Amino acid sequence: MSQTAPSFATLHEAVRRISQEVAARHADDVDAKARFPQETVAALREAKVLSALVPKEQGGSGLGMREAGALVSALSQACGSSAMVLAMHYIQLACVARHHGGHAQLLQFLRDMVDQQWVMASITSEVGTFGDTRSSICAVQVEGERFTLLKEATTGSYCAHADVILVTARRAPDAGASDQVLVMVREGDYSLEQTSTWDTMGMRGTVSPGFKLTSGGPVAQILPVPFGDISALTMVPYSHILWSSLWWGIGAGAHGKAANYVRGVARKNPGTTPPTAVALAELTVQLQTMRHHWQALADEFDTLVAAGTDSVELAKIGWALKMNSLKTACSETAPRIVHRALQIVGILGYKNDSPFAMGRPYRDALSASLMISNDRIAAKSASMLLVFKDE
Ligand SMILES: Cc1cc2nc3c(=O)[nH]c(=O)nc-3n(C[C@H](O)[C@H](O)[C@H](O)COP(=O)(O)OP(=O)(O)OC[C@H]3O[C@@H](n4cnc5c(N)ncnc54)[C@H](O)[C@@H]3O)c2cc1C
Repeated sequence: MSQTAPSFATLHEAVRRISQEVAARHADDVDAKARFPQETVAALREAKVLSALVPKEQGGSGLGMREAGALVSALSQACGSSAMVLAMHYIQLACVARHHGGHAQLLQFLRDMVDQQWVMASITSEVGTFGDTRSSICAVQVEGERFTLLKEATTGSYCAHADVILVTARRAPDAGASDQVLVMVREGDYSLEQTSTWDTMGMRGTVSPGFKLTSGGPVAQILPVPFGDISALTMVPYSHILWSSLWWGIGAGAHGKAANYVRGVARKNPGTTPPTAVALAELTVQLQTMRHHWQALADEFDTLVAAGTDSVELAKIGWALKMNSLKTACSETAPRIVHRALQIVGILGYKNDSPFAMGRPYRDALSASLMISNDRIAAKSASMLLVFKDE
């Protein structure tokens, strides 16, 4: 085990450097070839960024939500796909870190993660469940001390490059669709048969085709907490807050390019304020609002965890509504920010080979409202609002 895990400040500095020196350099090639951002992930591994959420008790850096969001958004300013890989990895790691139930094998996994820097992926999607993460068709089959699990996923990001996949499934063949568990499957214990392609508008470097998963393993790798609880207390908060930080980072990257462009115009005409500077000021308002939205909820999450009230408070309707609102607001704002930044820059933003190019961030940001459909989320919020009254 490592002697000392890097602090947040060290990790943040490392991710900022990796973002500028590695992710930015390879992002266009990753996008053009729809390939895994291996250079960036190797650099993150090297800097021990992948174990940042492992609790200090297990030798990790023990980062909270706000800090994790800062790392993800630092990366997304250069490469949305790389940042999505990091965010999805953190979501899975948080599920194990928060729901190991004290089981020896899962605690050992967390300790080993610090040295091994494994990449974790997720399969919640399934052919036939239509984007509803809270229902499964496949089921875990337990025999003695081992399980087997077959699943047909519609979308599985970077699964072919992962060391570990967390998979949702029904608890047993006779369990109901929402009586789910989260199962850890590890490299060597599973095979993947690719069933579809990943030639998408954006987030191309996440490499997320469909797969048929055939897996098995010791029963100790079935997380000991019902997936319904893991989903409410960890997977949904981590997904919606880290994704929102990521989408904010995409917006911040586009805003940064627009600001550079406007300053360049101003330098050419000393003593004047370019008309686009007003649009930039308006864009800054949207970006700031978006940042404060995800940061406020990250802080609230961290405060509840520190107070030990998270298992009660995060299970409440009020929190679920806040998560849904954050996700829909940020996923809709991000492409609008990139669109406005494109209008500020004009043709140089429209050109793919310009330093102000907005194509890739725009296409990446368009995935936000689909990644758990906003309509599906709005329908859930609508039914919760029938019974919920805000104080
Ligand atoms: C970049 C990216 C990476 C991903 N990575 C992974 C991964 O690693 N692992 C994984 O398991 N999955 C992954 N997914 C899949 C994701 O989690 C969702 O399962 C998937 O995006 C939902 O697909 P869908 O649009 O067909 O689903 P649906 O939610 O079924 O939506 C289909 C259509 O129905 C509409 N709709 C749905 N519900 C309602 C409603 N109640 N009211 C009105 N309209 C409704 C939607 O608006 C949409 O038009 C990824 C998705 C993306 C975009």
